[in-house]
Amino acid sequence: MLEKNNIEVSVVVPIYNEEPVIPELYRRLKKALNSISEEHELIFVNDGSKDNSLYELIRLAQTDSKVYYINFSRNFGHQKAVMAGLDHSRGNCVVIIDGDLQDPPELIPKLYKTHKEGYEVVYARRKTRKGESWFKKMTAKLFYRLLQKLTSVNIPVDTGDFRLIDRKVVDYLKMMPEQNKFLRGQIAWLGFNQTEVKFTRDERKFGKTGYSFGKMMSFALDGITGFSNVPLSMVTKMGFFISIASFLVILYAVFAHFALQQTVTGWTSLIISSMFIGGIQLVSVGVIGEYIGRINKNVQNRPLYIIANSNLKSLVRKRFKKLQKGERYLSNVSA
Ligand code: UDP
Ligand code: MG
Repeated sequence: MLEKNNIEVSVVVPIYNEEPVIPELYRRLKKALNSISEEHELIFVNDGSKDNSLYELIRLAQTDSKVYYINFSRNFGHQKAVMAGLDHSRGNCVVIIDGDLQDPPELIPKLYKTHKEGYEVVYARRKTRKGESWFKKMTAKLFYRLLQKLTSVNIPVDTGDFRLIDRKVVDYLKMMPEQNKFLRGQIAWLGFNQTEVKFTRDERKFGKTGYSFGKMMSFALDGITGFSNVPLSMVTKMGFFISIASFLVILYAVFAHFALQQTVTGWTSLIISSMFIGGIQLVSVGVIGEYIGRINKNVQNRPLYIIANSNLKSLVRKRFKKLQKGERYLSNVSA
């Protein structure tokens, strides 16, 4: 359990190769937080950066006792990094913000003010996205609209993870054990009073996106499979439809053979139908496979992430106790 405290606001920042931005990020976050409350904490989660991000974070922690870092043993991905920060946050409310300054820290006081008006979730919705490729904007836009069609959970379109959530919401998020995190969906699923604040998403100042095309695809699949069974029922419906059509074609073939005495020598119709059904079958097996893969990940029940080191008191103490017992230190979601 985390100790009692009176921290008003925590900020969770996932960090993957953000070394050049960290000083400015820290300065702007600090300014925003000081305007809200002296009682704040900054939790940076270093998600296996290949540059010197970790040293920048350790340096900050040495000069500011409100700065905490959690260093993963390798790259576990953006969502798990955010989750680690949430797991160890203590504030009455928590802000999730990207570490590349695409989400302006100056918006935090406004998120906080709106929260105080009685909203447990205040998400920042982007009006426009600067400096991102046409392809990224287009695919993101399509994805959010498709997701909305596929699920009954009202996941807000055009939002990232930049948002402020109440302690209650954090505690419930920690009770959701899924391995394939899709936090923006999970937060929407939880309900409570939710509202939006609009902002313009800036471009990246340094470095490049940590979301490769592959990472983006699997993130999109996590969103869909985590919040919708529509692809599965679509497969079933398609199966029914094709079976009925096939049955009619069979009837016709038998009728043509016996009654009309004309056996068709059509290679074209054969190849088309077998390719078509073969294709549909492969897609269907793939869809089912996606869901099974996710079940597999969840039954393995591994810890969500592994922490190599941290300056968080709760972690340092736990590590010490476990080492005394001679156990290897592993972080767990329940930490
Ligand atoms: N990030 C991370 N792990 C990853 C990829 C990204 O922690 O494997 C962090 C990254 O440092 C940033 C945030 O997640 O703070 C959003 O990533 P990015 O800016 O690359 O995504 P984009 O804005 O291009 O969608
Ligand atoms: Mg970014």
